Amino acid sequence: MPLSITAIPAFETNYIWALHNGRDCVLVDPGSSAEPMAFLQSHGLTLCALLLTHHHHDHIGGADDILARHPVPVWGPVDPRIPQVNRPVSEGDQALVPELELQLDVLETPGHTTTHIVFHNDEMLLAGDTLFSIGCGRLFEGTPAQMQASLDKLAALPDQVKVYCAHEYTLDNCRFALAVEPDNPALQARAEQAGQLRKSSHITLPSTLGEERAANPFLRTREADVIDAANRREPGTGQDPAAVFGAIRRWKDTF
Ligand SMILES: [Zn+2]
Repeated sequence: MPLSITAIPAFETNYIWALHNGRDCVLVDPGSSAEPMAFLQSHGLTLCALLLTHHHHDHIGGADDILARHPVPVWGPVDPRIPQVNRPVSEGDQALVPELELQLDVLETPGHTTTHIVFHNDEMLLAGDTLFSIGCGRLFEGTPAQMQASLDKLAALPDQVKVYCAHEYTLDNCRFALAVEPDNPALQARAEQAGQLRKSSHITLPSTLGEERAANPFLRTREADVIDAANRREPGTGQDPAAVFGAIRRWKDTF
């Protein structure tokens, strides 16, 4: 059976992604245990690994409970705040899940937290809280320059890569992005589509990297319209992508 990827909703806005083939299953960022355990049971799946992107509780809070019942490999960043990780990985490493014939490359993406990582191949990006659809993570620990460099790494991935982020923030992100780039047709279309999907309580994910590059202002800090908007918001910002990113991110924080 080919790989299926299912969003398991948790808390208010989180998605715990389940990668499965009808028999084995990987869980990404299980912030809670009840929902993913019920998913495994109702689909008759065996857990074979956890993937963790960063230390925030809404991403790892369910891990201890799950691991107590299913002691599996746990791939994640090197960070004492994530003691559950038993397969520590950093930039250039791979996470290997033989049960699903899955090999995922690891990128370090500091910004939201200092040790945030993402997992990807040519088909998927498990983005955690680094990249959201039409948005990006808040800078809790990193600098604008760090986050700009992290997003540059993700923006370099192929157009067709599907973006699996950890929160349903798309519609709110579109509202902000339209304040930055009101005349961007790709963004207008995404906002319309996301509005329709949420009206009927549907998920807006995954998107693709091609779509994000066309409409996500945080991946567009070298575009004239985004530079202009940043400089209207914070005069003197200039054209440096990290400075533009910082101005746009601070704007979003108070939007
Ligand atoms: Zn987070």
